[in-house]
Amino acid sequence: MQNTKPHAALLASPGMGHLIPILELGKHLVTLHGFEVTIFIVATDPSTTKSQLLEKTPNSYPLNILLLPYKDITSLLDPSANIVVRIAVIMRESLPSLRSAITAMKILPKVLIIDIFGTEAFEIAQQFGMRKYFFDTCNTRLLALITYFPTIDKEEEYNHINKKQPLQLPGCEPVRFEDTFEPYCNPNDPMYVVSLRIGVEIPMADGILVNTWQDLEPITLSALRDDEIWRKVIKVPIYPIGPWVKLRQVEQQFPRGNKVLEWLDMQPSESVIYVSFGSGGTLSKSQIAVLAWGLELSQQRFIWVVRPPMDNDAHGSYFKNKHDEIDTLDYNYLPEGFVTRTHKMGRLVPTWAPQEMILAHKSVGGFLTHCGWNSVLESIVNGVPMIAWPLFAEQRMNATMLMEELGVAIKSKVLESKGFVGREEIEKLVRKVMEEKEGKEMRVRVKELKCSGEKAFSKGGSSYNSLCQVAKDCKA
Ligand code: UDP
Repeated sequence: MQNTKPHAALLASPGMGHLIPILELGKHLVTLHGFEVTIFIVATDPSTTKSQLLEKTPNSYPLNILLLPYKDITSLLDPSANIVVRIAVIMRESLPSLRSAITAMKILPKVLIIDIFGTEAFEIAQQFGMRKYFFDTCNTRLLALITYFPTIDKEEEYNHINKKQPLQLPGCEPVRFEDTFEPYCNPNDPMYVVSLRIGVEIPMADGILVNTWQDLEPITLSALRDDEIWRKVIKVPIYPIGPWVKLRQVEQQFPRGNKVLEWLDMQPSESVIYVSFGSGGTLSKSQIAVLAWGLELSQQRFIWVVRPPMDNDAHGSYFKNKHDEIDTLDYNYLPEGFVTRTHKMGRLVPTWAPQEMILAHKSVGGFLTHCGWNSVLESIVNGVPMIAWPLFAEQRMNATMLMEELGVAIKSKVLESKGFVGREEIEKLVRKVMEEKEGKEMRVRVKELKCSGEKAFSKGGSSYNSLCQVAKDCKA
């Protein structure tokens, strides 16, 4: 029998933070909207395999997943090139393989959905007459900054970057220099050029999907839709379709028997703080040691995803998809005796934990996070207040939004200047979120956000309706 389902193609940039929301979107297009979905993922080294990339993500829906082969980019890059530039080059080099793969398809996809590093693939969608959507796996605030930045004049740019003044985005909260998207800090860095190009290309989509929801960012969303200046920058519809998190079918992925989850089962309600810096973030050796001291001093229960220190690179193991390679039980960078002394009150997890299940567990009452947007959403949908410890990319903007606009996180002032956070301060922050009035108030607010996210995402809600509209347009 001929397959009559509409076909959608999704292209994920390297990194779990990109892959996870793309997979979730693909699953929803299959289960709720009757699409056949092909997801293209990009190999970042010669040994990458599909199963390795999917190892840590729940994937029981019928998605066609195609791995675009590894292209050697070493001759195209300075060895010290930043991760942003590396990903951009990898994505560009994978375009011929993407084109060939689409050409070979029996049923041509009706739509191509890409994320932040995939905008150059719009040209391929154009060639095949497909609709093209940009999926912002982060929030509307970042979308505003990236798409507005290429239009600002020299003086505004000078004031923001050189004079370190806030950047006024029409109708939105200004972006403080200290928070600005990392690539904009230095116009001489190649990642600045990459980011400007992406900002120009995003509005060329037929529509923009954002992993957020109306009531989380009402001011920014209204500005981008209604403000006259914005109507010149982004002329296509913006669809808030979130919160997308990998919560569903987690039982299959991490069946009971996982030791950390079993330990959590035995802890009192909301008594454990979860500490994690995302899929690849790390701290320096001395900061990791002091974080350990701070946790111990706080006398709170904890689960800590510990990744070996990288003194010069907070992105750490961002590309290491095969996490076991760097798993280690030899925590020689932690203070002597820490593991033994804290054995009753905490658990260390080398490199990768079932984060979505940990945050959903009733015993978890706080999250010390690097503020990657997936982690932020996973915390919000589980009603867990946060300690913000941003490291790179747009994470400082996310942290400010969580603290100042939403009131669901606290942060050390030292991090404003990328400084070193001392053990007493870490102790104080942890106690504050876990035991004190401020933490209780944040918990109330984050639970309200949880409800508003659930409402937006469920049938008839604003995000649900937005995705229905996109699906309808793609099928037409
Ligand atoms: N993650 C996980 N276990 C870990 C670390 C990360 O499952 O030990 C998942 C986390 O749940 C989230 C994603 O990896 O879905 C990280 O994405 P995020 O946007 O928070 O940060 P990034 O890794 O892109 O910096």
